[in-house]
Amino acid sequence: MPSVLVTCQYRSRPFHEFSNAGPQFWADTTPECGANRQSPINLVDDELTSVTYDDFVFQGYDSEEEGAGTLVSISNLGHTVRINIDGTFRISGGGLPTEYEALQAHFHWGTISQQGSEHAINGRLFPLEMHIVHYAYREYNSSVLTAAKSGNKDALAVLGVLFEIGEDDNDIFDEIFNGVSQIEFQDDEYFFQRVVSLSDLLPEDKSRFYRYDGSLTTPSCYEVVQWTVFEETVEISERQVNLFRQLTTGLFNESYLTGNTYRPLQPRRDREVYYSHATMTEPLGLLAATVAMLLFLLKEM
Ligand SMILES: [Zn+2]
Repeated sequence: MPSVLVTCQYRSRPFHEFSNAGPQFWADTTPECGANRQSPINLVDDELTSVTYDDFVFQGYDSEEEGAGTLVSISNLGHTVRINIDGTFRISGGGLPTEYEALQAHFHWGTISQQGSEHAINGRLFPLEMHIVHYAYREYNSSVLTAAKSGNKDALAVLGVLFEIGEDDNDIFDEIFNGVSQIEFQDDEYFFQRVVSLSDLLPEDKSRFYRYDGSLTTPSCYEVVQWTVFEETVEISERQVNLFRQLTTGLFNESYLTGNTYRPLQPRRDREVYYSHATMTEPLGLLAATVAMLLFLLKEM
């Protein structure tokens, strides 16, 4: 399956933080993991370039839509949990240079709620992060491997969603977490019993997001990703994120808790990080500035 080529290349090299194959050793065997445009990064307010991109256009994300894609199942891959999809999910707009097609979605989490996400906002990590991986299907003849190996900084587009702990269970994610509770062992797979829309898994406000040129966050670490990280977080309960923490990795009777499944922050170096916000705020901002100027003039008169 093509998506396997992008996300599971280190299947035989466990992610586990205590193993000698953890993220800090990746560059020893995969030099690209030590290159200059790596992900994830810390998204810091005073390092952002403010922009206003067009709205995202989602196609097939809403299960009610004709020809929508389907979320089929959820699998424990040992180093992550992957949502397997079927059919067509596409995105464009949002400042992306072309149209991209989704391959799969997966999660990163930690052993405690102070860590787990890959990206950080102003130094703050989150308990869980979801990535929806897309590739520029037209440019690469529907070959994700060609896209991943192209070396082009916009061959792939990943949407990142950050989760925060709230009081209550998030009912929208019921079927996802129900699946997570049933895939305790590596290679377990749960087939969804209820229809889940990919659009429901995204934050409500999709107009505020961070954008930068980065990489896959597992070896090969190819620097081919247009990253989008939404600013609005999605709330889930501690009980729900705990279901990820019960997952195990390793085959036969060698299973142990999966532990932390995120790559530590990488240097931003001289990369621009863009922050896009809704066009709506522009006229309002202009109005506020005009009123302030008038008040100032009246005071001076
Ligand atoms: Zn990921």
